[in-house]
Amino acid sequence: MQKTIRTMPAHKHIALVAHDHYKPELLRWVQENKEKLQGHFLYATGTTGNMLSKETGLAIKSMISGPMGGDQQIGALISEGKLDMLIFFWDPLNAVPHDPDVKALLRIASVWNIPVATNRATANFLFESNLLEQEVEIEVPDYDAYLAERI
Ligand code: PGA
Repeated sequence: MQKTIRTMPAHKHIALVAHDHYKPELLRWVQENKEKLQGHFLYATGTTGNMLSKETGLAIKSMISGPMGGDQQIGALISEGKLDMLIFFWDPLNAVPHDPDVKALLRIASVWNIPVATNRATANFLFESNLLEQEVEIEVPDYDAYLAERI
């Protein structure tokens, strides 16, 4: 697959998602990082987003709830180059009904090469990075070249 460059803006578009047992953990992390998060555009799956905006007052664009299609909505935004980072506290200890959607979301985030944190430690590393507040060039699949090859 040929690659091209996408420039992430300094003010990033960040998706926040947590499975039910990890929502308190994500809330605590968001509270700790509220000041930094305020400088970016925030998105979330339905229940996560409503809980976070109620508890923190942050402006968050909430999708449908994850099991009802929210993970797929977040994945679609990633495919369209509209999201720059995914903070996804998925639950490694309990099964969820929408496991295929979870897998699809993590897969599409890898395809489009966006930074993903699946736990608190990685989220902290991302948020301590100087790149968080800067324009960043990332390699992404060159979809136009891909189409041209197949026609
Ligand atoms: P929720 O979805 O925020 O609506 O709970 C999260 C998920 O399960 O992906």
